[in-house]
Amino acid sequence: MIVGVLVELSNKNIDKIFEYLVPHNLEDKIKVGVRVIVPFGKMTLEGFVLEINSVKSTEKELREIISIVDLDVVLNEELLELGKVIQNKTLATLISCYQVMLPKALKAKCGSKINIKFDSIYKLNSHDINLEKLTTGQKAIIELVKNKEKVSKKELVEISLSSLKTLVKNNILLEEKIEHYRVLYKNEKYDKKELSSDQRMVVNEVINNSRNIYLLHGVTGSGKTEVYMDIIEHYLSLGKTSIVLVPEISLTPQMVSRFQQRFGEMIAAIHSALSDGEKYDEWRRICRGEARIVIGARSAIFAPLKNIGVIIIDEEHSDSYKQSDPNPRYSAKDVAIIRSEYHNCPVIFGSATPSLEVMARACKGVYKLLSLPNRVNGKKLPLVKIVDMNEEMKKTQGYFSNILIESIRHCLEKKEQVILLLNRRGYSSFVSCKNCGYTFKCPNCDITLTFHKSSNTLRCHYCGYGEKVYNSCPSCSENSLSNLGVGTQKIEEELYSLFPTSRVLRMDYDTTSKKGMHEKMIQAFKNLEYDILLGTQMVAKGLDFSNVTLVGVINADTSLNIPDFRSSENTFSLLSQVAGRSGRSIKEGFVIIQTFNPEHYAIELTKTHDYLSFYKKEMVIRKQLKYPPFYYLCNIRISGKDDNFVLAEALKIKRSLERNLNETIILGPSAASIYRINNIIRYNIILKYKKTNNIFEILEKIINHYKTNNKIKIDVDFNPSQML
Ligand code: ADP
Ligand code: ZN
Repeated sequence: MIVGVLVELSNKNIDKIFEYLVPHNLEDKIKVGVRVIVPFGKMTLEGFVLEINSVKSTEKELREIISIVDLDVVLNEELLELGKVIQNKTLATLISCYQVMLPKALKAKCGSKINIKFDSIYKLNSHDINLEKLTTGQKAIIELVKNKEKVSKKELVEISLSSLKTLVKNNILLEEKIEHYRVLYKNEKYDKKELSSDQRMVVNEVINNSRNIYLLHGVTGSGKTEVYMDIIEHYLSLGKTSIVLVPEISLTPQMVSRFQQRFGEMIAAIHSALSDGEKYDEWRRICRGEARIVIGARSAIFAPLKNIGVIIIDEEHSDSYKQSDPNPRYSAKDVAIIRSEYHNCPVIFGSATPSLEVMARACKGVYKLLSLPNRVNGKKLPLVKIVDMNEEMKKTQGYFSNILIESIRHCLEKKEQVILLLNRRGYSSFVSCKNCGYTFKCPNCDITLTFHKSSNTLRCHYCGYGEKVYNSCPSCSENSLSNLGVGTQKIEEELYSLFPTSRVLRMDYDTTSKKGMHEKMIQAFKNLEYDILLGTQMVAKGLDFSNVTLVGVINADTSLNIPDFRSSENTFSLLSQVAGRSGRSIKEGFVIIQTFNPEHYAIELTKTHDYLSFYKKEMVIRKQLKYPPFYYLCNIRISGKDDNFVLAEALKIKRSLERNLNETIILGPSAASIYRINNIIRYNIILKYKKTNNIFEILEKIINHYKTNNKIKIDVDFNPSQML
């Protein structure tokens, strides 16, 4: 028997199938999709069996595989095929496309091995037992086991460990090992909502048509989550499974807990707060068909579910669905569509502020548009007031306008709660000297260091470089360093001076870095232990607090200033999201947005929650500037240590593209906006095109041309979410 093996070494050069002989004793265990250990040159590597053949295709002497890693197939037929499609779409190595599908615990280089944990359970060997010969402890154990099917070790040890051991030794009790899962889910009581007629219509449309791609455009609080759960329940009743993607699952504990209450141990929730062992257990529960609903962030799209009934991508506009680094640079939305073709099932993209790409397809009829234009139970969307800070700055000193101060005061008097957003997108808390202008920069990267108050260090977010903070400027020695601790902490101080008796909960990167903290904070705020929740973007996402009647945005503008064609879209979407946290229950909601650009359409249109006008306006601009959704983008990154050499090669690549591509706009090469990371120089060439034509073919050629050149690295990113 001969097998074709793809080895786990992500190098373009060896990203192909190598043939090996299978020793006789392993022949009946070999299947396509299992992992094996093979000799490779002087190395021993792990690899996936992709083919089983009877004759070899080369003249060369073949080597034998050494062993089989796991008894089960780790990549089923569907996922093996999917990997090849992703490779074609991203031009990454095939092995990287398979590796991205598996939990870390299964990866070869994972260092410490993750163990499967077992519990013991006990059963009676036979029901005829001569009780007379037994001790009191032994009798008590028999009594317990008799009345229950299976009893855990813990319960029996409480009676007597020595009696238990004797009973097992004498074959009166049988011991059985069952797998112990690290994560437990409880079924809780869930009061299912009677759907509104709008919600009902959406559910019916999906379940009666099955195969379709939908955009569910529903305003915040329109009951999208409730719709998802009813659709999932329908497919569950047909014996089918479901995938639900959420942008950052650890930031949406309320959503996960709603699913858990309703579906209990049917769900597997995969998120970054799980340990590698916990993720591994969840993955095995999915493989075995024990978990039938998977909720998770981007990579959960690869959940090894069989018989998928529906795939839901909530907050579809979030850029977290695109993997921008490392390879494969895939979009979970594309993968969802590919998987839906295999399973012949619907895909639902949901959002209150859909991405322009998805909305444009829905408007053209490529996707089916479903709308929930109103909040449930006829609740009104909150009233939004936009405050011009250019005027306010003449009157006040701090970060708060008078109207925001008065509104907070009013809200606190009524014992209602406030959410305050400090927009930190595109905002860097770098440290500079007020005297000489010195800024702290990373010695390896072309970027300013970020201040971290909790450890009192300056850190580089790209390479991890860190240094202690000085009190004086290293350049002029003055004690005039600015901006130390600017951000949420500054705002918090100002809040306490304005409202000395208020209880402020600060939620940001520093206060939530400990495991479980984020969830605890949300619970505490829900339990009314705090009056004001102050935080960064993380307060904008999916939270549902019934007592919040005021949302304030301290600074709407920072995210507008990012040099990115999506900055208006991202700003509109962030402001709409956070506004949607207000007045979700019986009490009416109010939103105050402070800005220096009150006339900018991305800010002005949040006032009327007018997504459609925003969409139309933004589409005109995108068309003029030849951006998505009118053109596709592809970013080609050329990087290496030697500046001159990298630039020279980048120019060669550009010329080659010009010779070979038609109907394509080729921009660059230009220095990336972060020019140097970890002492590697980076240039970008950007392609804009309407039709794919031969682009994949030409780019593949270029990648192959450089694959053995270790002075230069080529990365391509189709439909990039950012081009830093
Ligand atoms: P979205 O996901 O669109 O923001 P949710 O599904 O979270 O909306 O619904 C908003 C609130 O309304 C939630 O508290 C939810 O429990 C409630 N809700 C949703 N649908 C109904 C319904 N049909 N009847 C009563 N309450 C509902
Ligand atoms: Zn750095």
